[in-house]
Amino acid sequence: MVIVKSSSALNSINFQNPFAFVPTMGNLHEGHLSLIKFAKENYSEVIASIFVNPLQFGKNEDFASYPKTLDKDIEILEDLECNYLFLPEPNFAENLEIINPNFSDVLCGLSRPTHFHGVLTIIDKFLRLIKPNACLFGLKDYQQQLIIRDYVHRKKLRTDIISLPIIRENSGLAMSSRNNYLSKDDREYCGKIYSCIKKTAESLKTSSVKIATKQATDFLQNAGFEMDYLKILDADNLSEISERTNKILIAVAVNYKKVRLIDNILVSL
Ligand code: AMP
Repeated sequence: MVIVKSSSALNSINFQNPFAFVPTMGNLHEGHLSLIKFAKENYSEVIASIFVNPLQFGKNEDFASYPKTLDKDIEILEDLECNYLFLPEPNFAENLEIINPNFSDVLCGLSRPTHFHGVLTIIDKFLRLIKPNACLFGLKDYQQQLIIRDYVHRKKLRTDIISLPIIRENSGLAMSSRNNYLSKDDREYCGKIYSCIKKTAESLKTSSVKIATKQATDFLQNAGFEMDYLKILDADNLSEISERTNKILIAVAVNYKKVRLIDNILVSL
């Protein structure tokens, strides 16, 4: 694997087409690996990046303490035969014009009002620099991939946005680098989040959105989760469910022992 440490060095690479790009913040787990594996299977070459993007963290969030395991990450990527790893310079996020996303005034965008601006600004820089045929994202961050897909479409960037399934721990908890902040027992316990949204998807067959939302929220609160939101929305545009809705998103964000955990499930109608 070739490790590229500057934007200028990227320009001299002749990627074999079609090639895929997998942006990450490192501390790689099976969720990230599923993206790299998909890229290896479906594209001629794969470039991953590891960059803890300061622009997407709020003032009181965990930017400084975000888990960093670079040596281990490099080993994992080597094992998967990833072709390139881009490690941007620390000033990569400096002096950028911040981009305003669509779909950022709901869900995570409400409690993290600058988060998606930061994500989109960096992804835009990556895409213009690397110009990959495809860029791969996990559905775990559903709102993120929707925002990026919308932006790429509006700006007519020539990159396919590919969204891949959520990889989970045995308990059902969606894998995340932030799960490292929790003990093994806590991670087991937090499997309740996924069971809850699965059950909510079932109950939508007989209950209204309002009742299903309340039941799920009550369940999680009683189980000791501090709610940010549990929302049932139109998956295509994150608006309220209407007669035009053909795919439902059940999305949840909670804090457990001060660790922010998100998850979601899609229901086709
Ligand atoms: P991050 O390092 O958290 O920025 O994540 C990098 C990419 O991995 C994003 O596209 C995430 O959506 C994706 N990802 C993170 N966790 C998972 C997971 N459990 N399953 C699938 N994709 C994931």
